[in-house]
Amino acid sequence: MDLKQFVAIVPDWPKPGIKFKDITPLMANGDAYKYATDQIVAYARDKEIDLIVGPEARGFIIGCPVAYSLGLGFAPVRKKGKLPRETVDVDYGLEYGTDVLTIHRDAIKPGQRVLITDDLLATGGTIEATIKLVEELGGVVAGIAFLIELTYLDGRSKIGNYDILTLLEY
Ligand code: IMP
Repeated sequence: MDLKQFVAIVPDWPKPGIKFKDITPLMANGDAYKYATDQIVAYARDKEIDLIVGPEARGFIIGCPVAYSLGLGFAPVRKKGKLPRETVDVDYGLEYGTDVLTIHRDAIKPGQRVLITDDLLATGGTIEATIKLVEELGGVVAGIAFLIELTYLDGRSKIGNYDILTLLEY
């Protein structure tokens, strides 16, 4: 299935010069959403994954159906102030300034093998911060899966030597 037909390219959003990749048409189409999910499930199946972890909010949209399909749990990574119990936090760079991502301290047991999911790899800052949180809790990043990679931003070089799946490239 050609999943690109379900990604809407929105010019000059949220800022002039950005071509935003909108995945809501893909999510809205049951066949396309299932196909994309099944590709990630197939990638994850032989990796002995214990837990799926994804950053808000679209990391949940990708990761939760994968977790359900594999019969695994899902742990959310959220912006600061959203998780109710004790967290570990990491600063990460945005275009202007920094923000903080958090995960519950007891979300991952040391040695657990984690699949990280998100919708899109751009500069890699979000996923780099998510990797740091997983590893700080003793988790092993066994794979990272994205729907979309913006190859011209070279996020992979920031992420380093991990096993990465991307379903679509721009
Ligand atoms: P990064 O941290 O620069 O790699 O940006 C990735 C994060 O920004 C992901 O969590 C995406 O959800 C979001 N993002 C950046 N650009 C786009 C886009 O064109 N479409 C959808 N999400 C985007």
